[in-house]
Amino acid sequence: MAPGATQLLRVLEPATEETLAEVPEAQVEDADDSIARAKAAFPAWRALPPGERADLLRQVAAAIEDDAEDLARLEARNVGKPMADARGEIGMVVQAFKYFAGAPERLFGETIPVAGGVDMTFREPLGVVGLIVPWNFPLMLAAWKVAPALAAGNTAVLKPAELTPMTAIELERIGRVAGLPEGVLNVVVGPGRSVGERIVGHPDVAKIAFTGSTEVGRRVGAIASASIKRVTLELGGKSANVVFADADLERAALAAPMAVFGNAGQDCCARSRILVERSALDRFMELFEKSVAALRVGDPLAEETQMGPLISAEQRAKVASYLEDGAPVAFRGSSPEGPGFWFPPTVLCPVSNDDRVAREEVFGPVVAVIPFDGEGEAIRLANDTIYGLSGSIWTRDGARAMRVARAIETGTLSINSNTSVRVTTPFGGFKQSGLGRELGPHALEHYTELKNVFLATG
Ligand code: NAD
Repeated sequence: MAPGATQLLRVLEPATEETLAEVPEAQVEDADDSIARAKAAFPAWRALPPGERADLLRQVAAAIEDDAEDLARLEARNVGKPMADARGEIGMVVQAFKYFAGAPERLFGETIPVAGGVDMTFREPLGVVGLIVPWNFPLMLAAWKVAPALAAGNTAVLKPAELTPMTAIELERIGRVAGLPEGVLNVVVGPGRSVGERIVGHPDVAKIAFTGSTEVGRRVGAIASASIKRVTLELGGKSANVVFADADLERAALAAPMAVFGNAGQDCCARSRILVERSALDRFMELFEKSVAALRVGDPLAEETQMGPLISAEQRAKVASYLEDGAPVAFRGSSPEGPGFWFPPTVLCPVSNDDRVAREEVFGPVVAVIPFDGEGEAIRLANDTIYGLSGSIWTRDGARAMRVARAIETGTLSINSNTSVRVTTPFGGFKQSGLGRELGPHALEHYTELKNVFLATG
């Protein structure tokens, strides 16, 4: 990375506000150099026999597994996320490399019956792909892109967020040690506005996979469209957690805090609107208050911690703005005093779906509880948003669960659970939550181009 860079980027630890590291900050020329290295590495990487590419990805997975505890600690310190969460995320990084290591030998084509010969399809790699990720799940979101991109025979330039570059830098190093050839994976640590836009606009980059805010995603899409560059976007969310009166309310209330306060609410899948059927509202709020009070907010490095601080002072100020103007605070959890960008879990009730807090992605530990009457209104409210990323449905009525799941315009839903992200299943958004899918078998479609070949046999 950044051989000529002289400017240093100060990386903070959000739980202490102290400096974690200073790393060279890449400039536009460094992005150009990385793209040139990736371009030079592409012909040999795509030509590698599929089994050898698969083995190299397995070696990367094993090397990450060996370093898992150190990587988790680095991520926990840099993002301020609990160690237990960071360990889970590094585990998913390993799984992603293992899962997509199965892909090089399974990128099947088809034969299509035609007159006069044989018609067949191939999945060809795109070339150099630009991968841009945010600060909330730095290494995990990078792996969701790097693993399928390399598996399909592309080479990559990865740009982590300026606030959280540490584990991406480690990934580049680990990849090299594990045997990835020079130039196959290049990490560029630099500002989005200059270095990020350079990658998006660069003529030698064939595709951009971007995860971040909807606002920046729109800009990325607009710049990429000038050269009809392939783009996948994983953007913001305002997901609904829909609780019907016939649900197991104890389970729903026990699961609700981590569905929105996990990662201190800085999660694109955060169920930041809880829609509760009015007849169950009082009972649900009683149970929910207990589970929020039990949430352990504190030092990310303490084993028992469930929620850490926000990423920055700026993010905390933004989150706090949703509590101005007499927001209906029902109850709050705890948070430490002293240094660190702390913000207590906060529950607002009753909220109208037209209120700002119900329309905008807060990206912090603030949840809006919105009462509803009947299935029709639940669906209408859940869909009354520009977003469509995630969500949950709680009911004991299986037919209703399926009716509502089919009616909600969102990419990833869970019924009687909050778990919706797995390496083996597709993830992505409807509406302004994104374009394309990551993970699962469908991810590879977005890292390859479909080619059709006809061989005349007459
Ligand atoms: P962001 O959009 O500000 O930044 C994301 C990345 O884009 C960073 O690396 C940044 O440097 C870069 N960037 C910024 N401006 C750019 C530009 N003009 N051109 C190219 N790159 C640019 O987002 P953030 O604040 O880091 O992350 C929070 C957002 O990410 C939230 O909106 C959240 O919902 C979203 N997110 C989405 C998913 C998902 O899978 N849908 C997952 C996690 C986070």
